[in-house]
Amino acid sequence: MADLLTRDEALALVLEHARPLAVEDVPLADAGGRVVAEVARAEVDLPPFPSSAMDGFALRAGDTPGRLPIVARVAAGHPAERALEAGEAMGIATGGVVPEGADAVVPIELVTVNGDTVEVDGVSQSDNVRPVGGDVRRGDAVVEAGARLGPSQVGALAAAGIAAVRCTRRPRAAVLPTGTELRAPGEPLGPGEIYESNGHILQGQLRSAGAEVTRLPVVADDEAETRAALERGLEGDVLVTSGGVSVGPHDLVRRLLAELGAEEVFWRVAVKPGKPVAFAVRGSTLIFGLPGNPVSALVGFELFVRPALRALQGEAAPEPRFRPGRLARSVRRDSERDQLIRARSFVDGDAIAVEPLRGQESHMIVRAASADALVLVTCGDGEVAEGAGVSYLPL
Ligand code: AMP
Ligand code: MG
Repeated sequence: MADLLTRDEALALVLEHARPLAVEDVPLADAGGRVVAEVARAEVDLPPFPSSAMDGFALRAGDTPGRLPIVARVAAGHPAERALEAGEAMGIATGGVVPEGADAVVPIELVTVNGDTVEVDGVSQSDNVRPVGGDVRRGDAVVEAGARLGPSQVGALAAAGIAAVRCTRRPRAAVLPTGTELRAPGEPLGPGEIYESNGHILQGQLRSAGAEVTRLPVVADDEAETRAALERGLEGDVLVTSGGVSVGPHDLVRRLLAELGAEEVFWRVAVKPGKPVAFAVRGSTLIFGLPGNPVSALVGFELFVRPALRALQGEAAPEPRFRPGRLARSVRRDSERDQLIRARSFVDGDAIAVEPLRGQESHMIVRAASADALVLVTCGDGEVAEGAGVSYLPL
């Protein structure tokens, strides 16, 4: 099959066309899941002041061991009114400002308090004192450009005093399932009809990849209907269709896209499932024509669409993120196509084992739904043996 592109060739073509979108300032409350377009720098030193790591007593290490008068109590948010003098102790709460003149905090559990004095064993300098800027210095990077913000990154930005962060705009994506035979669950099935599932799968995948998703109503394999729907879908940054990209007389999608001015970049890739995948562009809109079999659509999305969405958002490493695993059961290779085998992963000693599921056909979405991994079995002769090292894509 010399006319098939390899996975790598196809991915390279996709990424070549997926340029980062415009940037906008996003308030922190809405920044979760977004990709940072410019390094975000700390507004303050963190901690901003020498801060106590414990509830206890601030003092000078040089005054210990000893019995010291307690001259003040420092709560979080209420610094002491004066510096600590030699021979004194001040009660202090976790997060309290370690007073000037003190160089250590001794935890309350390690002292004996008698009225207004505290008896302390030996303490070392800087014990339980969190130094200014120990986490980050004002002006230093908190999050680098190209990073996607998870909860901990958003928390770090907040801690560093950053109220809004410059992010790439979210891609606007449309999903269009095609097929005369498709019905919505809840409706009765007529002869030859099946329930539509790709719209649901692709909407979820697009959302998880950071897109704003419009689900276009399912269209029959009808020229006028499909053309009108494609036209709507082409208004966004990304259009993902399912079905109608094979070689049958009812497979209209590629021809109609061409009529609408889309330029096909490729069609057909040496992967299984999902060979007939098509990729086209019109202006700045990227168009992915995924095959109709639900598992083909799901796999095609992970291999080509998710990387494109990452690249549109300016993510630093947009490629599929394969991890190393160990094959739990042998798999026969396909001579011409790389396979993405649905599998379940589990911890096995010091490795992740991936066990191929029974039922690998591309219409078997219910079986595929119990997979948490797509194992890459590269094309070639023979089989990949049980126990062999493989790459897998977490689902
Ligand atoms: P196609 O790529 O249009 O030739 O479709 C291939 C197979 O996938 C056919 O059996 C279709 O009925 C099925 N199929 C197409 N679209 C969907 C969909 N949205 N949901 C579930 N199955 C589909
Ligand atoms: Mg079809």
